[in-house]
Amino acid sequence: MGGQPIFILPEGTLRQTGKDAQSKNIMAAKTVAETVRTTLGPKGMDKMLVSSIGDIIITNDGKTILDEMEIEHPAAKMIVEVAKTQESEVGDGTTSAVIIAGELLKKAGDLLEQNIHPTVITRGYRLAKYRALEILPQIGTAITIKDRANLEKIAMTAMTGKSSETAKESLAKLAVEAVLSVADTNNGKFSVNKDDIQIEKRQGGSMDDTELIKGIVIDKEIVHSSMSKKIKNARIALLDCALEVKETETDAQIRITSPDQLQAFVEQESKMLKNMVEKIVASGANVLFCQKGIDDLAQHYLAKKGISAARRVKKSDIEKLAKATGAKIASNIEELSKEDLGNAGLVEEQKLAGEEMIFVRECKDPKAVSMLMRGGTEHVVDEAKRAMEDAVFGIISALEVGKFVYGGGACEIEIARNLREYAQSVGGREQLAINAFAEAVEIIPRTLAESTGIDSIDILMNLRSEHEKGHTTYGVDVFQSKINDMQKLGVVEPLKIKFQAINSATEAADMILRIDDVITAKSGSGMPKGMPGMGGMPGGDME
Ligand code: ADP
Ligand code: MG
Repeated sequence: MGGQPIFILPEGTLRQTGKDAQSKNIMAAKTVAETVRTTLGPKGMDKMLVSSIGDIIITNDGKTILDEMEIEHPAAKMIVEVAKTQESEVGDGTTSAVIIAGELLKKAGDLLEQNIHPTVITRGYRLAKYRALEILPQIGTAITIKDRANLEKIAMTAMTGKSSETAKESLAKLAVEAVLSVADTNNGKFSVNKDDIQIEKRQGGSMDDTELIKGIVIDKEIVHSSMSKKIKNARIALLDCALEVKETETDAQIRITSPDQLQAFVEQESKMLKNMVEKIVASGANVLFCQKGIDDLAQHYLAKKGISAARRVKKSDIEKLAKATGAKIASNIEELSKEDLGNAGLVEEQKLAGEEMIFVRECKDPKAVSMLMRGGTEHVVDEAKRAMEDAVFGIISALEVGKFVYGGGACEIEIARNLREYAQSVGGREQLAINAFAEAVEIIPRTLAESTGIDSIDILMNLRSEHEKGHTTYGVDVFQSKINDMQKLGVVEPLKIKFQAINSATEAADMILRIDDVITAKSGSGMPKGMPGMGGMPGGDME
């Protein structure tokens, strides 16, 4: 071969191998984590994101930030995936998960520098992860739906740092109320479908005006001006077919030769509509929600009969109405009967922020509820809605697992302490990786301490020593810039958040550490000739 390089990849392919690939990937992941790190905790800063078309989002929500950033680097994208998983599994803890992943990789980078083999690191990390996930339930405290006080604290912790801060207490109460009213508790087993809690927003008013509706809010108006806009003791019919006379499907022509015939034809149609309305009247309904259209004439008849109606209501809203009011959705007017009707104490149309909405309120034992978030400006309601989603999801996660842990870094310090003990028992080179893992988890209290502007090293030392003494609920009191008892402060979080964060952060770190070769196919235009790394083989020379 006489020193001739061998090309196995198409010209223009970019390739990075070995340490080079590893360090670049670690760097990318670290950069992502650094970006969101300053937003952690109640004292975390917000980010203002401006899209290419000028839309502005102000948030401190990790997932939202990463979503909007349109990250491109493949390893960085894997970190974004951590945030996505965290969001879909528990709805909160996204920033924490991302910065733990970043710190795991940073520490791994240090170990790689000391010539520790990546497989040793990943093995150590995995041992540490299993251990951490074992420890978590042991340091968790049991919680049930009866424990409203702690559930409210969970909601409040989830909302801290978001701009909803001022109305936190009242919002937390609403969040708990919402979850408990739609919860299913079959022989001690708890289950909630979070879709049954609809979180709507309307700009205007203040955050304290946020309201939990024991029922549903529908973005529609009462269809006819002479229908009543406020109906007490509503008996509600739900229809998923139209209140219209079907048009002929084919292009049939009806030849009308005399005015009498025309009259007869019109009368026939109006009689059919009248019959339909009669069926609804017979059922005893005084409110009608129709998924399809309602003919003008039918509206007129309905109004005359004292029935208020809305048309073209979204399918998903009709389904929620069924859950909230106990009504059965009828697909055929002929079959509509008294038994199909649902009930609500009050149905009313109200104007909010210049738009009409129909409120179906005071349902008895509703299996779907609505939260209507209010706030002075668009950005405030948006962030309030995100905070409420975190709170609701947090309560659900806590009840699903039935355990909570103490926040403010208390839980992370405790995990780290246990891991250090464990590392000694493992020994060998893995010990180094397990210790690195312990330190990486401590990035949470360290960052919380930094967010208050105090020396994080002192805080960390103090926390470790308190925990050694058995004060395992001590964490960072970000408002007083010192360590404090999180139990006393009521900083509690669902265990599931921590479990998921550690799990997915380790998985992502593990995946990234195993990569020692990055082969990037050439993009459309190709790379300019002579770029380092081109030509497929390491050190391969193009010329
Ligand atoms: P994430 O996206 O990870 O949920 P947050 O910005 O919501 O990020 O911050 C969550 C962290 O803030 C958790 O570690 C939590 O324990 C901590 N935290 C929340 N409220 C307080 C508080 N009042 N005092 C100290 N730490 C708090
Ligand atoms: Mg949070």
